[in-house]
Amino acid sequence: MRYSAFKIFSQGLTGNKGWKPVWREPDPKPEYDIVIVGAGGHGLSTAYYLAKEYGMRNIAVVEKGWLGSGNIGRNTTIIRSNYLLPGNEPFYEMSLKLWEGLEQDFNYNAMVSQRSILNLVHSDAQRDAFIRRGNAMFLAGADAEYATAEQLRAELPFLNYDNARFPIKGGLFQRRGGTVRHDAVAWGYARGADERGVDIIQNCEVTGFDIENGKCRGVQTSRGAIRAKKVAVCVAGSSGRVMAMAGMRLPIESHVLQAFVTEGLKPVLPGVITFGAGHFYVSQSDKGGLVFGGDIDGYNTYAQRGNLPVVEDVAEGGMAIMPMIGRARLLRSWGGIMDMSMDGSPFIDKTHIEGLFFNGGWCYGGFKATPASGFCYAHLLAKGEPHPVATQMRLDRFKRGNLIDEKGQGNQPNLH
Ligand SMILES: Cc1cc2nc3c(=O)[nH]c(=O)nc-3n(C[C@H](O)[C@H](O)[C@H](O)COP(=O)(O)OP(=O)(O)OC[C@H]3O[C@@H](n4cnc5c(N)ncnc54)[C@H](O)[C@@H]3O)c2cc1C
Repeated sequence: MRYSAFKIFSQGLTGNKGWKPVWREPDPKPEYDIVIVGAGGHGLSTAYYLAKEYGMRNIAVVEKGWLGSGNIGRNTTIIRSNYLLPGNEPFYEMSLKLWEGLEQDFNYNAMVSQRSILNLVHSDAQRDAFIRRGNAMFLAGADAEYATAEQLRAELPFLNYDNARFPIKGGLFQRRGGTVRHDAVAWGYARGADERGVDIIQNCEVTGFDIENGKCRGVQTSRGAIRAKKVAVCVAGSSGRVMAMAGMRLPIESHVLQAFVTEGLKPVLPGVITFGAGHFYVSQSDKGGLVFGGDIDGYNTYAQRGNLPVVEDVAEGGMAIMPMIGRARLLRSWGGIMDMSMDGSPFIDKTHIEGLFFNGGWCYGGFKATPASGFCYAHLLAKGEPHPVATQMRLDRFKRGNLIDEKGQGNQPNLH
């Protein structure tokens, strides 16, 4: 069924009896061409692009819980392509371009809102670094705009420009950045994939891989064995645990990241704003709540809940740039498990086991990557070679010394 304004109108006149479930609930078949493990944003977008771009239909996405129960439904919904390094920037710019046409493409309202993102600058050295980043963005075809403190004072008068420790000296805008309703992204991709014949199988946990003579021939699941010509893993924070079942040890650690939302307020924040002297990012949801987050908790865990010291740290970051946030009441907080790679950048690659593929290490930036990640993973699965914008996202890059260390922090997953 194609969604349109006319459809809503006609359904309204006929008692809304014609709507159908957005995806089927199929039982697993004994065999598929491709089994995708994990129905998060990346798994679902991979299935969608495999079906849409490569005409592949005999695909299953198996999910241990319910569709969208992982990080795709837990993130702070920020999209942007303001990266510096050549291994990252063209990939994220491709993703942003895919976001721009996504709702028309999969015929679903994902509330893509290019309301801008602003990275604040607090020192002269930081200004130079951000201008360099802006130039790298131009080279990849992205947009960037440097704003002085005077320009910002006119546009965002509520920020604390004269904080003695962290004065605001300007900021780097990406006006095409913004937010997208995260769970609608999962639903839209699921609907698009299902319509093209992909089986999305919920409550089906992968418990092992069938590997014979160095070749992966399928998966064991809580609903029985499923044979497959190719198995594509994308399980975000569970990457280490799942790939251990194939005997692999990844350059990834799992950490918890928290997010927070306040009570609904009148419109105050026009776009996304990030603190440059600490880790704090904030936007305002369409319901009015201020949605914000900061650093990971900093220790390895699989728990989807965080601890109070980070709540305090995040609140301090918010108070430093916009003290008025101290008057808003916190409504909810939650956590998600991050697959933190050693250099802060992701992997989309084959493994040394024939037929077994891996997508992960997205740290806390994987939501914005959802369209390009699915597109490039589908390309790798269908053609057997990496997509041109994802050639550096390889599992062996540490062995080769080709890190994509966007922050220049070295092999320190908790610092990226
Ligand atoms: C609090 C928070 C804020 C964030 N903010 C942002 C942001 O603003 N912008 C941004 O770009 N990114 C953000 N991120 C990161 C982003 O959400 C993730 O990088 C991205 O969602 C990960 O990819 P995914 O959607 O496929 O993961 P998930 O949705 O986690 O999907 C993985 C799926 O695999 C399933 N799975 C695990 N093990 C198995 C198994 N054995 N068998 C079957 N299925 C299994 C899980 O149940 C899960 O549904 C944030 C994350 C969090 C937690």
